[in-house]
Amino acid sequence: MRTESCSISELTSKYPFTRSGRSIIEEAGVRVSELTSREFEPIIDDALSMLEALIKDGEHAKLSFKVREAAVSRYIAYALTASMDKRIWRRIADSESKIFSSAVKSSYLSKPNLECLKEIARELELRIIGIGELSSLVTKLLNQQGQVLMPKPFLYAVSIWDYLRNSPRNDPNWILGTRPIIHGYVLLTQHDAYRIIEETVENKAITMISKLNSNLDLFKPLISSVSDRLKAIEEASPQVKYRVTRRVLPKGDPPCIMAIINELKAGGNPSHMARFALATYLLHRCVAEGKGREECVEEVLEPFKHAADYNEKIARYQVEHLAGLRGGRKFYTPPSCQELNSLGLCPTNLGCGVKNPVQFIRGSTKVEGTE
Ligand code: SF4
Repeated sequence: MRTESCSISELTSKYPFTRSGRSIIEEAGVRVSELTSREFEPIIDDALSMLEALIKDGEHAKLSFKVREAAVSRYIAYALTASMDKRIWRRIADSESKIFSSAVKSSYLSKPNLECLKEIARELELRIIGIGELSSLVTKLLNQQGQVLMPKPFLYAVSIWDYLRNSPRNDPNWILGTRPIIHGYVLLTQHDAYRIIEETVENKAITMISKLNSNLDLFKPLISSVSDRLKAIEEASPQVKYRVTRRVLPKGDPPCIMAIINELKAGGNPSHMARFALATYLLHRCVAEGKGREECVEEVLEPFKHAADYNEKIARYQVEHLAGLRGGRKFYTPPSCQELNSLGLCPTNLGCGVKNPVQFIRGSTKVEGTE
């Protein structure tokens, strides 16, 4: 059953990785070799303005397209992004996903609407069904009378494979073992459904940019023709400032730090940057508790002892260095949230409303670049 009332295709057709967006691009029949001709100037201009706005304002960017084919402009914007630094790829994908999910929440699904949500899921090639449908499936399977009752407060269910492909990375709340799974489906609340849509959009945008990067030769004439503007956009990106929503922070450590600790406990192999973030965060937390840095080194080493490659001597030397007890005597601070997010280490997609994980520490000393 289609959902005319929800008109979701107005939104989804603006994205080149959705079913409707792909059809628009195919119908437009644009040839890459023609993109430098005058005829395409408005589309290229839209693509560049979009890039500029997304890099500058992130999820708060106001995107307006002069031409009807927003999906085509977006596709070209992604191709131009593919020629830039990989951190910009993530910035674009992250902003796009948030803009998409916020449009879904505010315009289309202000209250639960199963058919509308299923339509969005189809556009994104996600298998989501309503909890009632799952209940009927299970009832039939068990050959029972009536309906099998499903646990509250779940409204939807996503196929386990789509869940594994698209659930937020490193977020302890999304570990598969913590979720009810029934008949190959993982149950979702309304909030979970928005989140998995957001993550799917981010994955699709990153995948598309990455594929375009593999075929960048095709776009060389276009990239050369706008190289000055692209350079200016790229140069502006390190100064990107994102707005901080002031919130009351939950007690305890931030999700990014918890995720790294959990990964270590599970015998995983966190990246160098993840280990750096964890060690510097724990050092700051320990010092904020009034302990001496030497004492803190012992405490900070604890979670690292779970790592398969743990070497007491090397780890101690490194933590002492980060604590400012060796070398240049600099007391290092954790990377910013934006940097962690660009490395895929922020499970909340910059959702905590802080600029640096160290802001979770009560009474912490002010860290450069944080509020
Ligand atoms: S927003 Fe910052 S503090 Fe929160 S999980 Fe992401 S990186 Fe960590």
